[in-house]
Amino acid sequence: MEPFEYVTEPGEPGLFFLQSWMERYPRLKAGFTSRHGGVSQGDFASLNMGLHVLDHPQDVIENRERVATAIKLPLKEWVYGEQVHGSRVAVVTGLDRGKGTLDRLTALQETDAFVTNEQDICLAALFADCVPLFFFDPVTQSVALAHAGWKGTVAQIARYTVEAMVREYHVVPRNLLAAIGPSIGKCCYEVDEALISRIDQTLDEVLPHKDEASIKKSRDCFYTSKDGKKFNLDLHQVNRQIMIKAGIMPSSIEITEKCTGCGTDFFYSHRKEHGITGRMAAWIGLSSDL
Ligand SMILES: [Zn+2]
Repeated sequence: MEPFEYVTEPGEPGLFFLQSWMERYPRLKAGFTSRHGGVSQGDFASLNMGLHVLDHPQDVIENRERVATAIKLPLKEWVYGEQVHGSRVAVVTGLDRGKGTLDRLTALQETDAFVTNEQDICLAALFADCVPLFFFDPVTQSVALAHAGWKGTVAQIARYTVEAMVREYHVVPRNLLAAIGPSIGKCCYEVDEALISRIDQTLDEVLPHKDEASIKKSRDCFYTSKDGKKFNLDLHQVNRQIMIKAGIMPSSIEITEKCTGCGTDFFYSHRKEHGITGRMAAWIGLSSDL
């Protein structure tokens, strides 16, 4: 079942809520923005959440305010990172509240993933095809968010995020819930052989060892090719496999069916819109209020 549910009210931002988690854990707030219900114009219309694209910063901040108000997590409690397609995981505390919300200089530098176990902090990252990875541990009440494009995927940012939760909060990975959010799907993500060889190296590390024939067959879940030169890659499945290797139960990993490339009526897509477009935000946080 699709874990992300689109909710829109007149005059409000259109938002995808991670409904399957929020129904079970009422203090948990998690989801993903759409491109609707903001004030940005032109290529960035209308709910662009990214300050690093050529949109007017005051419009982006207004959009961020609108989303924060709609979710009932004040913008001063949000934390943004300066994303670099790396694998560094920041440990976020109350001292970080508000960082990166109004400008890029205060954002957590070189940060593509973060973890926290404090309430009233909202972790936020920006996307336009890359894969948002959400993590929640109901036992220790800790949360994490990661940004995984192909670089973050082959760098196994999902694994480093789980390891940070284990190290910092003594999370037991089999208790974790994980969700893979809207991003470019296998249908729209065509890549070359060089990238597939990097993916193969990652899969060699995370898949159980098998003989040649079964390796070839099992790779079909992750990528397929008609001509042996261009490949359609499924980053969702690769990240799922990295999560399983990190100790998360397969039954605890939910994956969206929404593709940003097919869904430009709802999403910005870097690939489909040739690099000139806005950004969606993924968010996760625990509120002290019900
Ligand atoms: Zn697609």
